[in-house]
Amino acid sequence: MGEALERAAQVLDRARRVVAFTGAGISAESGIPTFRDPGGLWAHFRPEEVATAEAFERDPDRVWAWYQQRRRVIEAAQPNPGHYALAAMEPYFEEFTVVTQNVDRLHHRAGSHHVIELHGTLLEYHCHRCGRPYTEEPLPAETAPYCPVCGGRIRPSVVWFGELLPAAAFAAAEQAVDRCEVLLSIGTSGEVYPAAGLVWRAKAMGATVVEINPAPSELSTAADILIRQKAGSALPELVRRLQQYRQQARP
Ligand code: NAD
Ligand code: ZN
Repeated sequence: MGEALERAAQVLDRARRVVAFTGAGISAESGIPTFRDPGGLWAHFRPEEVATAEAFERDPDRVWAWYQQRRRVIEAAQPNPGHYALAAMEPYFEEFTVVTQNVDRLHHRAGSHHVIELHGTLLEYHCHRCGRPYTEEPLPAETAPYCPVCGGRIRPSVVWFGELLPAAAFAAAEQAVDRCEVLLSIGTSGEVYPAAGLVWRAKAMGATVVEINPAPSELSTAADILIRQKAGSALPELVRRLQQYRQQARP
């Protein structure tokens, strides 16, 4: 275990371009439930029941209320040492890009500057019909607002199952992945595509893949180095060791 961490610190020491690919697991220690957390928000709903355009069109208020409840959880949460460690890693590299599947903005709040949100964010809204951004406050708790322009219903700006990822964000993620020498895959089950495909892409392009996850995932077989620990303890330790390497004089 400690050995895997040391090897990861060594490959990071030699790297100039790094991608951190993150999933719900990095926010678990902030108290935000993952998909699979027993007893979590998802336990009462199958994601496909609330996180699709069909569900929203059938019952916009139910889906709206569910997301507003999640928003309250996210706003009450704080970034954890895993998020802060990724922000602290940034200055050690020419390029350090966080590519996240999370919609909680905790990477931004922890101070990361280069964050690509593949699945949008729960903290912004737009019209499901005409696509215009919606910024009016306060937001109702139970009823999806109506678009002042077209009368469509307002939805959170997250990517639902079956929807396309934001094209610019995905292209930027692919570029970062193609350039990186190390990809850290952190707290993701690797079951949601096309996002998870980025890890396989990095591997095919010759990057060293490091997985940080207390449990095996669909991406474990892609990993060159497996760190079977929680992100909130592994990442701060990784930064500490990287700092030690970088402080040593090198030829
Ligand atoms: P997932 O729920 O499918 O998988 C979570 C993974 O995190 C699991 O492999 C689990 O073993 C691991 N994990 C749990 N605790 C961890 C910890 N402390 N440290 C490291 N790893 C830990 O989540 P996913 O892969 O992100 O895919 C699900 C989708 O869910 C994404 O599309 C995302 O948009 C959405 N989602 C987002 C949030 C959020 O924004 N915080 C929360 C739930 C779901
Ligand atoms: Zn509209």
